[in-house]
Amino acid sequence: MRATLMYAAGDVRVENVPDAHLIDSTDAVVRVTRACICGSDLWPYNQMEPSGGGQRMGHEFIASSRRSARTFERSRLEKFKKVKEKIKKNQEKYKNKKKIVNK
Ligand SMILES: [Zn+2]
Repeated sequence: MRATLMYAAGDVRVENVPDAHLIDSTDAVVRVTRACICGSDLWPYNQMEPSGGGQRMGHEFIASSRRSARTFERSRLEKFKKVKEKIKKNQEKYKNKKKIVNK
């Protein structure tokens, strides 16, 4: 994949780097469609000491999810279902208590 790296103040390069991959269950791989420069990128651009390997840049972007979103959505859906079941159980408990009080 392509990435933007800063090697020193004013030395920014776009290079091929190893593809991104998932490490933690909360990670996502995204395809960046639009990006911009953030104000926090300007500080090292003006004063970064030379770096042999270069520092990755860029954290402001518009992207679509490529991996992990399904897992994320599935876990959100499971949480929603659990909450829904809990609400249903509590409603039934309440109805049963109401019946006992009304007798
Ligand atoms: Zn930013």
